Amino acid sequence: YGGNALLGKKCFALRIASIMAREQGWLAEHMLILGIQPPGGKKHYIAAAFPSACGKTNLAMLVPPKGLEGWKVTTIGEDIAWIKPGPDGRLYAINPEYGAFGVAPGTSEETNPNCLAALKKNTIFTNVAMTDDGDVWWEGLTKEPPKHLIDWTGKSWTPDSGRIAAHPNSRFTVHAAQIPSMDADWENPAGVPISAFLFGGRRTTTVPLVTEAKDWKHGVYLAATMASETTAAIVGKVGVVRRDPFAMLPFCGYHFGDYFKHWLDVGANVKQPPKIFAVNWFRRDSNGKFIWPGFGDNMRVLKWVVERCEGKSGATETPIGNMPRYEDIEWSGLSGFSRETFDALIHVDRDAWRAEIKDHDELFGRLGSRLPAEMTVQRKALEQTL
Ligand code: GDP
Ligand code: MN
Repeated sequence: YGGNALLGKKCFALRIASIMAREQGWLAEHMLILGIQPPGGKKHYIAAAFPSACGKTNLAMLVPPKGLEGWKVTTIGEDIAWIKPGPDGRLYAINPEYGAFGVAPGTSEETNPNCLAALKKNTIFTNVAMTDDGDVWWEGLTKEPPKHLIDWTGKSWTPDSGRIAAHPNSRFTVHAAQIPSMDADWENPAGVPISAFLFGGRRTTTVPLVTEAKDWKHGVYLAATMASETTAAIVGKVGVVRRDPFAMLPFCGYHFGDYFKHWLDVGANVKQPPKIFAVNWFRRDSNGKFIWPGFGDNMRVLKWVVERCEGKSGATETPIGNMPRYEDIEWSGLSGFSRETFDALIHVDRDAWRAEIKDHDELFGRLGSRLPAEMTVQRKALEQTL
């Protein structure tokens, strides 16, 4: 997996940089950075942390869906962010990378046209399948698979061979400048001001579509306790829920107790700290189907996030944070998404959350005396509201 093999990427830009950041008062994070401009409105920048193979590259290159065409989304980075206080005391982020390194399967003209456009030339592919005319292919690229391929292991492949053709973690790498959605400021060394942080993972149950933290400290708690179902990007069992604080489990260069403390300190020292949100695009119904359409339609959640930052949109309070009501989300262009389906997507199952807290305790227990007292305060408050 190149993320580990390329020493400038996870090894330096996250593991070593996170230690430098702590010593020097900034943050090195596993985050995409994107720009969002409402029609005729002020541009905002959002940074989002998801574990590997949970949608960073896709979200960073999002194309607004039908009904939200007036909104413009631009890309600063799709995997790593270095974030520091600027002269005005706000947090500014840069992308320390020069290219995109993404998961191929599932990438298509429908799900991510910006990404596909970037891959037309000068691209390195690993572990994808090869067509008879020397082109690349992976599951999800086209609805109908080609009649014949060489699979990622080098063997002859046909649709009825009963095997996948591309490895689930097969990848592409490409110069960022080839991505049509790159922001004019993507190489600006001053960075871009961050309005909101998003944290998310793959959760089949329990975790709602989007939750706004009550304040910075609560946001740090949400991010510290986030979890995700394991994917092919992670060696071991697939589909097991594991805690992945800040999506930094494989990348944090120092003790997580000290890392949480560093995040609490950064928030206490910046002006207008970004709002913090937890998201989950991956909740499923009783038939195992994703409830939320995801991809371009994630713009509907981003719109609510931006409007919350501007104080323009409503929300309802729940024990785990603030959530949009049905009428707070823009539905135009998405037909047939009922109030009942939305309710299932944002439902807070109190028993499931009580079990979730037990799992938080397990993580916190492992951090011992270096767990900041504030985390225990937040945990107690959550249990009480539940
Ligand atoms: P990254 O490793 O975090 O950058 O994740 P990617 O953006 O490369 O996506 C990893 C996998 O998740 C791909 O198979 C995508 O097709 C899939 N994915 C990305 N965004 C969504 C979404 O909003 N909904 C669903 N259901 N799948 C998604
Ligand atoms: Mn990626």
